Amino acid sequence: MMMPVHELAQLTWEDVRDIDRRQAVVVLPVGAIEAHGPHLPLDTDIVIATAMGRAGAHKLAAGGRTVLMLPALGYTAAPFGAAFQGTLSLSGPTVTAVVVDLARSLSQQGFRLLAVANAHLDPAHLTALHEAVQRGRADGLLPIVFPDLTRPPWGTRLGDEFTSGACHAGQFESSIVLSERPERVRDAIRASLSPNPISLSQAIKAGKRTFEAAGGPRAYFGDPAAATADEGARLVDTLGSILEEAVLAEI
Ligand SMILES: [Zn+2]
Repeated sequence: MMMPVHELAQLTWEDVRDIDRRQAVVVLPVGAIEAHGPHLPLDTDIVIATAMGRAGAHKLAAGGRTVLMLPALGYTAAPFGAAFQGTLSLSGPTVTAVVVDLARSLSQQGFRLLAVANAHLDPAHLTALHEAVQRGRADGLLPIVFPDLTRPPWGTRLGDEFTSGACHAGQFESSIVLSERPERVRDAIRASLSPNPISLSQAIKAGKRTFEAAGGPRAYFGDPAAATADEGARLVDTLGSILEEAVLAEI
């Protein structure tokens, strides 16, 4: 039976009071305000995380779960892009505290599972989310499910570019924004960009700590010109499946 997907912020408190907690899953999209090349908006990761969360929510609802979508968390740790104008970065401990506090509020209201739909891959941010999962567990809060796309088994399902690590504002992310928010893409610029096949994940392993040091002077890696909206739609569906599978593994 298809259950509803609610936007929590658009409900009244009495609507929320009356939701059956046993079948409810809460989804928190997590993105960033961060430089994404000369062709994508600063909120690219929020667009992707929201799309992932919504796709996962609809799959869970089709499986009989009531889903509550939280407003996206759009500020987080983004030190790799911090030198680029417009990027706004929080400290890792601040991010952990925000997520744990949200989990605490939800726990106090009887919710039983929080799923994080995350699209931002800065190592400081990923560490902060893993910390939040552990702190929540240590404090006896509801479980926080966080499928980290940079860890097995998830990333290999997201295409060759993602797997290569050259995946910041490249084909992967540009395709999803083209599918979700085409009006926000500076498309003439996108089509003119030459590929930057440098692997960010390799650069991180080699000790690089900024996009410039990693070899991305315009804050993009990968092949933006190869992006298509069709691929973006397929990727969003896969991201939704990843979120659904991670949730179902926990309950
Ligand atoms: Zn991104």
